Amino acid sequence: MKVLKFGGSSLKSGESMMSVGEIIASDNEEKVIVVSAIQGITDSLLEFMSKVRREEEVQQFIRSLRDRHLKILADVAGSMDVKQTAVSQLSTQLVRLERILYGIIYLEELTPRTRDLVQSFGERMSVIMMAAMLQEMGVNAIPVEADELGMITDGTYGSATVDMEGTRNNIAPKIYEMFKRQETPVVTGFFGKTHEGYITLLGRNGTDYSASVIANAIDADSLEIWKDVDGFMSADPKVVTGAVPIEQLSYEEAAELSYFGAKVLHPRTVEPARAKGITIMVKNVFKPEYKGTAISPKGVAGDMPIKSISSMPNMAMVKVYGAGLGSKSGVMSEMSTLLSDAGIIIYSAATSQTCVSMLIEERDLKRSEVVLGNAKKGVVDRVETVRDVALLCLVGEGLGLREGVAGRVFSIVAKNGTNVGLISAGASTVALTFTVKRKDLEKTTKTIHHEFFGG
Ligand code: ASP
Ligand code: MG
Repeated sequence: MKVLKFGGSSLKSGESMMSVGEIIASDNEEKVIVVSAIQGITDSLLEFMSKVRREEEVQQFIRSLRDRHLKILADVAGSMDVKQTAVSQLSTQLVRLERILYGIIYLEELTPRTRDLVQSFGERMSVIMMAAMLQEMGVNAIPVEADELGMITDGTYGSATVDMEGTRNNIAPKIYEMFKRQETPVVTGFFGKTHEGYITLLGRNGTDYSASVIANAIDADSLEIWKDVDGFMSADPKVVTGAVPIEQLSYEEAAELSYFGAKVLHPRTVEPARAKGITIMVKNVFKPEYKGTAISPKGVAGDMPIKSISSMPNMAMVKVYGAGLGSKSGVMSEMSTLLSDAGIIIYSAATSQTCVSMLIEERDLKRSEVVLGNAKKGVVDRVETVRDVALLCLVGEGLGLREGVAGRVFSIVAKNGTNVGLISAGASTVALTFTVKRKDLEKTTKTIHHEFFGG
């Protein structure tokens, strides 16, 4: 029993969908397929909602969505009955979406709840396409919507967390029933619903997370995440030409890399799989014979102290100053509550007697100044900000415990004439993170990669 996830980049044309079909049809094992929207569809739904629209624009937009899907359908489904069923299922979805979009225009209101609901339609349409293609290939595939299946979330619009217990109780019996009937469920990624039934998204690229949740729920033997890249690499190959693929990662290593900028997996993907000890395989749709990266409990320490370097280029620091700040209790928790209530993530922090420095994404900088201004009087004297910061993350099992690795990193970085800002070495034993000025990011990444990997 396994779960296979396919993303938008492998669902962009009839041709790329056929490569996906071959992978799915290549064995008889029981499987659940989880898919994202066809490439570009989520973006176009978002773009449509980003402006005030006229009624004619809704019709045009719905027509363009229909055309895009029908064109791909024509390439992947030849037989009349398969095509007819898919066309009528697509129409049902498009009629519903059209009404919702009119609703937005008439009410002159777009709430976070409606924004999530609208975006869920990309996946509601792509499962129809995928199921039709598989039926054409002789697989008894059935499109399934995650809200119908019972994927339950905590209700945070835009980036919800799945309630694993509730979801498992809903999903597992339904999937097992489908397997008994020899059906292959093709499930929508990206969204679930609250206990009350409202649609909530799991964050951009959240289908990886959906797939991991389903793997946990049904006790799958493995979870395969199919992408258009070879898996995790030792660095971003666009920056470091000598970057090499990584065959094995521990759950922690993969989670840290994903959190700190590696775009291979949605950062939450590891949790549900790890809870059940399920191996995650990251593989390339266009090179299925290539092994890709295996993520499993076994932390293979390898010969190299560092396995991979990831980075987040668009970061900033907020520095909060106040006399005797370091010795007052509760300051750190007040700052982090103020920021997290505003949905701002702190990636790293350091405290001294007079200052608390926090690393955040640069797009949150303005808002963070505003909310920190609400701190208790007498605690904060002033807030300073630093722009153009980049964060580097070096990952390797046991890295934090190996002597001399940090020293080696910082001495070559210094030799290169680069100043290091905030360092975090103890938060996890598998990761070392530090900041540099954005202009030094590429050079620093290359230097470290060269030091540890040669080439
Ligand atoms: N279609 C969604 C997105 O573009 C979810 C996903 O790709 O996993 O973010
Ligand atoms: Mg995607």
